[in-house]
Amino acid sequence: TPRLRIAPSPTGDPHVGTAYMALFNLAYARATGGRFVLRIEDTDRARYVADSEEQIYATLRWLGLPWDEGPDVGGPYEPYRQSERLDTYRPFVEQLLADGHAYHCWCSAERLADMRAEQAASKQATTGYDRLCLGKTREERAALPGFTDTPVVRMRIPDGVATTFTDLIRGEVSAPTPDDQVILKADGFPTYHLAVVVDDHLMGITHVVRGEEWISSTPKHVQLYRWLGWDVPAFAHMPLLRNTDKSKISKRKNPAARLLWFREQGFLPEALRNFLQLLGYPPAEDDAEVASFSEFVAGFAWDKVNTVGPVFDLDKLSWLNGHYIRALSPEELADRIVEHLVWTGEWSDPDDAQVATLRAATPLIQERLTLLSEALGKLQFLFTADAELAGDPAAVAKLPANAADVLDAAVDALGSLDAWDDASIQAALRARLVEELGIKPKVAFGPVRVAVTGSNVSPPLFESMAILGRESSLARLRALRS
Ligand code: ATP
Ligand code: GLU
Repeated sequence: TPRLRIAPSPTGDPHVGTAYMALFNLAYARATGGRFVLRIEDTDRARYVADSEEQIYATLRWLGLPWDEGPDVGGPYEPYRQSERLDTYRPFVEQLLADGHAYHCWCSAERLADMRAEQAASKQATTGYDRLCLGKTREERAALPGFTDTPVVRMRIPDGVATTFTDLIRGEVSAPTPDDQVILKADGFPTYHLAVVVDDHLMGITHVVRGEEWISSTPKHVQLYRWLGWDVPAFAHMPLLRNTDKSKISKRKNPAARLLWFREQGFLPEALRNFLQLLGYPPAEDDAEVASFSEFVAGFAWDKVNTVGPVFDLDKLSWLNGHYIRALSPEELADRIVEHLVWTGEWSDPDDAQVATLRAATPLIQERLTLLSEALGKLQFLFTADAELAGDPAAVAKLPANAADVLDAAVDALGSLDAWDDASIQAALRARLVEELGIKPKVAFGPVRVAVTGSNVSPPLFESMAILGRESSLARLRALRS
């Protein structure tokens, strides 16, 4: 059975690219009855960030992209964290050294930097390691300048190394000739190149699906497979996600490259998943903007992936999010909003009354909501004490000259109302303000709206008042009157 994996490095906030790769790996695994593995590649100690691993799990779970095996869920090929596998890599390094496919290198960082600077200055055609250490014993090398005590191990890339390979998405791919890549670092940790090959082999990975920036590494990996006598897996290099100016989206430049950003903003995971699924991949039906994961899986094929880097269009994502928000039942949407408020810390421990109010008010905002994070702002007046409701100064300044009369009449009409529901409130206000006093509806309800909600833009007024309750509504009408 096919076995696929993502292999994120815990180097900071998870990248949206990690979710993109996870989605396509998972789709193929589900389409073929295969397994999807999560492996943590934490061999780069200099870039290691402690929280990052937990954030990778949390964001991928939030997105609904579950893995069958991984450091946190276990599996038959444990451990799935590379820093716990150091003993696994060493024998393969020894084997490559013994076979003459690898050699020790004692060049100091300064020497390597000088070498690179010289290569750049002389515009040499061949760059990369100049093999000063190749074929030398420690003693021979120590006699030369730029020596360090603890060596690294490098691959000895043979002349005529294969630089082409078959890619499931791109067909025949041709990559540049690699140089003598380091495979074991001075700190005893393998580099990515060695660890990824050893682990993909030992974990039975059949399909290596990753970003296109790894194309240039693939010939090194293929060479390692051959030397170690292992079957070479299939490769698929996904396009990188791009800005409209075609630059690749990156965490340094785009807030939206951070997976957590989407959650902070209040996007629904199903909308983001749908969005990622349509990046560089055709919808099941022509022009369909909304596509379920099961349809995606059912028709999945690598050659449908477009190699042109898809443009990351946040307007489209917002549109999709609104679509998914409207597709939820109001109860479910309210739950999602509460969940979001708790997750962001805006609501630390909501009580039953808060939740009940939010549930009652959610239908009032559902139609026009784009992000979960907008909900509280639209409904803030329901969660503010009467005495603390500050009317928007611009709205207050624009109140009509007869606002005081309107408010007095409203208080009077509502004070004696039997039932407190939106229809009764509306009927009472209409009868008194519009019919009896002959005020135009817009002029009549404007002051009421400002009094009750603090603003002249709000969810439907009568429903809002029904939820707010009689006591608060009247208190607010009186407060603006004075
Ligand atoms: P930056 O995006 O600023 O380079 P970074 O250095 O943290 O930030 P990487 O560590 O290079 O990002 O990448 C993390 C993961 O995200 C890698 O697996 C990489 O393939 C993937 N990735 C990075 N950029 C993109 C992109 N534009 N589209 C898709 N995947 C990407
Ligand atoms: N650790 C690498 C990364 O973070 C994995 C690349 C691969 O999938 O081979 O992108």
